[in-house]
Amino acid sequence: MSTGTFASPTAWPDSLAPDLLRLVGAPTPYLATDLDTVAARYRAFTAAMPWVTAFYAMKCNSSAEILRTLAAHGSNFEVASIGELRTLKTLGVDPATVLYSNPIKPPDHIEAAAGLGLWRFAVDSPGELAKISERAPGAAVYVRLRVDDSTSVFPLSGKFGTDVEDAYDLMLLARRLGLRPYGVTFHVGSQCESTGAWRDAVRTAGELMERLRPEGIELEMLDLGGGFPARYRAGEPTIEQIGEAIGAAIDLLPYRPGLIAAEPGRHFVAESSVLAATVIGRELRGTENWLYLEVGAYHGMVEPAQAAGGWNYPTWTSLENHADLPQLPFTLTGPTCDSSDTFGYEVSLPATVTVGDVIYFGSSGAYTLPYATSFNGFPPPTPIFVGTGR
Ligand SMILES: *Cc1c(COP(=O)(O)O)cnc(C)c1O
Repeated sequence: MSTGTFASPTAWPDSLAPDLLRLVGAPTPYLATDLDTVAARYRAFTAAMPWVTAFYAMKCNSSAEILRTLAAHGSNFEVASIGELRTLKTLGVDPATVLYSNPIKPPDHIEAAAGLGLWRFAVDSPGELAKISERAPGAAVYVRLRVDDSTSVFPLSGKFGTDVEDAYDLMLLARRLGLRPYGVTFHVGSQCESTGAWRDAVRTAGELMERLRPEGIELEMLDLGGGFPARYRAGEPTIEQIGEAIGAAIDLLPYRPGLIAAEPGRHFVAESSVLAATVIGRELRGTENWLYLEVGAYHGMVEPAQAAGGWNYPTWTSLENHADLPQLPFTLTGPTCDSSDTFGYEVSLPATVTVGDVIYFGSSGAYTLPYATSFNGFPPPTPIFVGTGR
């Protein structure tokens, strides 16, 4: 669970500014998303790295409106399952343009994805190569390296990835199995706050490229993965700074693969949304002020419960002159009968906040809605959209 003070509001789309949100008539809880901000993030990303092809990691927020907005601007997509691929297909996305980057896939998902025309699969083990050669003969594979994810807020904790030596062996094995040794990928961890993490990871990918060259294998794709940060408080590197660091590292590679891919999730959508939840109870337990909200960890606020060092959604309330009122530290919890839906400690809010007031969480467009359940009979936030996304 997170501790510490949530930041005062610093970031929200103009269309979702506090004064405008107070006028939104929709019943809470809701997640309001400004599609113009999604489009703007995509444009800024491709402007900062014009040599990158973006594949949006749709697990982050798979609302059709967001997928359509990104597709209309030319984004490609990254999936983890056949379910995600089918969602894209119903929106008119060609599966042949999609990357399947989950390194461990159900065998029947591999076969079904190949049947729809998807041809590029991530691997990090001989077992996965065996599955792909059986279920999708001749497919292209890209190997996932294990890289330093210690500067990210959500490290991948060793779940995926392999070292350069094993990656080398895997690419040779892929060729022997009749697969196409196509590329290399990594993930520096989500909300990565150091440009050095990408620089070092690209350098490691370069070591693999160097090792494979004498075998006659030139990789066609370098996939930078995800982890591009969103703005929650001050201090995250800008996308321009990250692009500069990556660009410099790519210039030092033994050669330049034809496709430089990236898989941003959070960066494209986090800042586009505000989550609104009404206070359903306020109680003093011992010396602690508790606020019971319509949403908790089971209703979208799961990342504050996961982040080791705390988590700062910019937070404000429906009270007039919110920032000028005397503040108190509150514990924020959800509506269910479990204590495990508590998600904020010592969150500074106006001392008078009470039942019926609305709490707004900014920069909440990533990893909220897809995690939200109806646990205990409380509904997840309703998605609502503003802007045209053009
Ligand atoms: C989750 C994921 C991403 C997106 O990560 P963000 O931190 O949201 O950018 C990209 N690629 C893969 C393989 C992922 O699993």
